Amino acid sequence: MGEIIRFKRRKPAEQHRGKTLCKSGFHKWEPVKERPFDVRRGKLVTLYRCTRCGATRTEAR
Ligand SMILES: [Zn+2]
Repeated sequence: MGEIIRFKRRKPAEQHRGKTLCKSGFHKWEPVKERPFDVRRGKLVTLYRCTRCGATRTEAR
C-alpha cells in the first residue's frame, strides 16, 4: 500500500497534464488544414486535432 501511495504522489499533475482533461472530453482542438472538406459528402468540413492526445474529429460547416 505504501509503495502505491508513493507512486501516485510522483507529480501526477505534471504527468497527466491535459490527458485528464482529454479523458473528460475536454480536448484541445486545433484546426488542421490537410483535409479542408469532405469529398464524399461534398460539404466543407474542418478537421480538428487535439494537440495533447492526437485525437481527431471533423466538424461540418
Ligand atoms: Zn485530447
